[in-house]
Amino acid sequence: MDINYVPTICPYCSCGCGMYLVIRDGMIIGQEPWKEHPVNEGANCPKGKNAYQYIYSEDRLKMPLVRKNGAFQEVSWGEALDLIVTQLREATPEDFGFIASCRNSNEDAYVMQKFTRVVMGTNSVEYCGRLCHSPAAAALIPAMGSGAMQTSQPEIELADCIFVAGVNLQETFPLIARRVSRAKAKGAKVIYTDPRNTATARYLADIHLQLKSGTDAALINAMMSIILAEGLENKDFIASRAAGFDELRNFLSKVDLKQAEEITGVPLEKMREAAITYAKAERGCILYDQGISQHYVGTDNVRDHANLALLCGHAGKPGSGINSMRGQINGEGSGDMGCLCVFYPGFKRVGEETAKFFEEAWGVANLPTKPGLTYIDMLYKCPYLYIVGGDPMMAVPDVNNVKKALEKANFLVVQDIFPTEIAKLAHVVLPAATWVEREATHTWIDRRVQKVNRVVEPPGETKPDWWIICQLAEKMGYKDKFDFASAGEIFEEIRSCVPQYKGITYDRLENKVGGIHWPCPSEDHPGTPTMFLQKFNTPDGLGHFQVVEFKPPAEVPDDQYPYVLTTGRSIFHYHTGAMTRRTPRLVDEVPRGFVQVNPEDASKEGVKDRDTVVLETRRGSIEAEARITDEVRPGLLFIPIHFPDSCANALTISALDPSAKCAETKVCAVKIEVKR
Ligand code: SF4
Repeated sequence: MDINYVPTICPYCSCGCGMYLVIRDGMIIGQEPWKEHPVNEGANCPKGKNAYQYIYSEDRLKMPLVRKNGAFQEVSWGEALDLIVTQLREATPEDFGFIASCRNSNEDAYVMQKFTRVVMGTNSVEYCGRLCHSPAAAALIPAMGSGAMQTSQPEIELADCIFVAGVNLQETFPLIARRVSRAKAKGAKVIYTDPRNTATARYLADIHLQLKSGTDAALINAMMSIILAEGLENKDFIASRAAGFDELRNFLSKVDLKQAEEITGVPLEKMREAAITYAKAERGCILYDQGISQHYVGTDNVRDHANLALLCGHAGKPGSGINSMRGQINGEGSGDMGCLCVFYPGFKRVGEETAKFFEEAWGVANLPTKPGLTYIDMLYKCPYLYIVGGDPMMAVPDVNNVKKALEKANFLVVQDIFPTEIAKLAHVVLPAATWVEREATHTWIDRRVQKVNRVVEPPGETKPDWWIICQLAEKMGYKDKFDFASAGEIFEEIRSCVPQYKGITYDRLENKVGGIHWPCPSEDHPGTPTMFLQKFNTPDGLGHFQVVEFKPPAEVPDDQYPYVLTTGRSIFHYHTGAMTRRTPRLVDEVPRGFVQVNPEDASKEGVKDRDTVVLETRRGSIEAEARITDEVRPGLLFIPIHFPDSCANALTISALDPSAKCAETKVCAVKIEVKR
């Protein structure tokens, strides 16, 4: 009996670790380390080690389903697609919205946005990056010219100060935590901001700034004010590579450090230590994630971290910069491919000029020139919705309200690998192939494009996402614009109209373990691990300071809801949990949702460890198992986001960032009581 070891890349977080899958008789029976892979050098976290198990889950979708008389019935592809076409022909451009996912490949995402723009005539196409990292583009394009990660993963080890901001690195990016740990072994200092005393605080941080939730801008302003008072700003860098310093300096001169101490709850001496440590570093590297961005002031928070980097000259060098840690496999690529209502592929901003460019590139006329609806707006406003690979019923704040809106939708198509929570509301459910059942590229956290190949046959009638969309486009009368026979043909079209990908080919990717970092302008270009070495990508080539005034969270505790609720991830689960909750080994570790409660608060509320408690906010209530721990400070409760039975987003608030339209899922007011 032959056993084959086939190399592939982990389907979960955006590190992009390599692994070998062990194949026998056409089935994956195990996973082995890929020691030569430069991202992970043989190591994988628990999710990666068990990455293939879910594809054999019994409830895998294998046939198209159409709702008839209130119940789903299996139908042929022809019947399902014909029904969708009939319905979509009823939709005006204003009626229709397409929601893609960070889990789609580049080729899938590219075809989805092209379908939305060319066939449906609207820019209302988004992906779940809107819910977590849209502040990166909103803040960093004006500040530096790109919202992408600025240094590569291996280069993090070059930094001598790593500022880990709002990301529990040990659990959410374990292989990047290993890089930080290696840098630390060489003498680097690690500063960490998080309201929780997480594993990252305990094992990685030298300076843990345990700030109150939602007070990041007050902290950063205070740190910058200390840096200026100490004369530690990088004067040469500011003079040669930045603009807007005088406005920032004037603003910071008014910062009251005592008030900052009260707002943040961080002792002034700790702020001072962190500020001086970061400012004095040769290479300071900011790694930030949702703890910074998932606020109604997320864009402001990112702007302020960019200010800090520019102030100290920590950008444009390997192992430096301000780096947004996109959490999911194709968090970078789905945005690069244009699944955003304000950007066509290559982050070309929606408008007349961009529409003209793509009309020529695609051989079409009348492409939409106005921004479409954002992710959350679509859920409330579009009567015709097409959702692929994501689960808004888990991922979007205030889901009880979202559900009411979706129940009124004229027509909802869900395309996925499992019957997710959103699929339960759909009119048609289409079965998609998983990452090992088709060929594709993804773009991982550090703009690293890698290719994955088909390892096993797709089960039943499952199909690659791009194939399904192309079939629909053909039936809608656009065969010649979507006449792709393979993912490789789609990638060739991507290369022709996304300049960052121009020099990357399937052949090059097949032969380059670890992939190629965009921008890669030509086929003989090695790729770009570090951004902005000579200049920033702004029109004048300079980094731009943007003054940020601190604003408190949208909802603060009161007598009725006396605690702060925050949300996050577990190392054993991934995002909405659709894959990891179907992975027995991971479910053994963390089988259900829970809430972390500080011992002081537990005693006040009469909660004992493992009690079932009821959590209630102004949006809804859930039950969860109490875990009493000093990982959370008094007054703070934490729940993970992966479990539908304890759905965090039934509680969260949809206060939106005015620039990025990202919601404040990291802070709201909540009460807790033992279930009677
Ligand atoms: Fe997979 Fe991320 Fe874990 Fe690597 S760190 S094995 S990419 S989940």
